[in-house]
Amino acid sequence: MKTLDIIVPVFNEESCLDETFKRLLALRETFKNKLKVNYIFVNDGSKDKSEEILNQFAKEDKNIKVINFSRNFGHQMAVTAGLEHSCGDYIAIIDADLQDPPELIYDMYEKSLEGYDIVYGKRLKRKKETIFKKLTAWGFYRTLKSMCKLDIPTDTGDFRLITSKVRDALNNMKEKHRFIRGMVPWTGFRSAPVYFNRDERFAGETKYSLSKMLKLASDGIFSFSYKPIDFIFALGVIFAIISLILLFVMIFDDFEEEWIISFAIFFASSIQLFAMNILGQYIARIYDEAKDRPLYVIKNKINL
Ligand code: UDP
Ligand code: MG
Repeated sequence: MKTLDIIVPVFNEESCLDETFKRLLALRETFKNKLKVNYIFVNDGSKDKSEEILNQFAKEDKNIKVINFSRNFGHQMAVTAGLEHSCGDYIAIIDADLQDPPELIYDMYEKSLEGYDIVYGKRLKRKKETIFKKLTAWGFYRTLKSMCKLDIPTDTGDFRLITSKVRDALNNMKEKHRFIRGMVPWTGFRSAPVYFNRDERFAGETKYSLSKMLKLASDGIFSFSYKPIDFIFALGVIFAIISLILLFVMIFDDFEEEWIISFAIFFASSIQLFAMNILGQYIARIYDEAKDRPLYVIKNKINL
């Protein structure tokens, strides 16, 4: 029988795990006679009781596999570790907080049988999330789409089902700054959405702090687009034109407004620093690639 590995990244989710576990285990019944279901929980350096709870699950059932990281390496690294330890024919990625309904994995599987290697969950509504989160997510996915040649689906997180072909392609992509929801479409396999309304978190608070959100967003943009560099060029052209205009004004109008000149100098310097930051983002990423550190460090593994 073919197998399905369900990858669940976990960071401080003690209040969700029992319920998540219950809903995920029910999938075994749903997939009965179709796929054998395994679970790979990746504990991303949780400081609460998540590790204890997961280790207990794994002790009772050898099809529940646990990877414990030595510290918090981030959601994308947790998913990466899950993918690198998976050997199933199908792989599903799902959050631990039940915002993504586990039951939808079956619909994704059925859709994949129509000939798709990637079936992603596309969010129609996001229940009970803050206006800030909804607005930033809405803006981010659309900005990214306008900046990338690649067709990265909007309103789509990492909740998806992929086949082993896609998993193997992802495992060959060794980049350090990982934006999995962009890397999956990059592989080029046929994809289709299934639509769902995103539930509210079962319990606890979001584990995506503002700084983690910004890191994910910048990895999305800088790993998949060179548009920011074109933007610097466009700014350079605009500034060259402005400086020529100022030159003419000064020559023909005896222009002596010192404050405007100071303003122009400050403004131009700020733009230069801004441009340097954009270049710095690419250089820092080259530096990280050159260092070639492992993506994560594993403290221990259970049933793997
Ligand atoms: N997560 C993780 N490491 C982190 C942050 C989050 O493994 O550093 C996990 C978290 O436990 C959850 C998933 O990633 O399973 C998505 O996180 P969360 O639900 O907090 O994000 P949100 O849905 O609010 O964007
Ligand atoms: Mg969530």
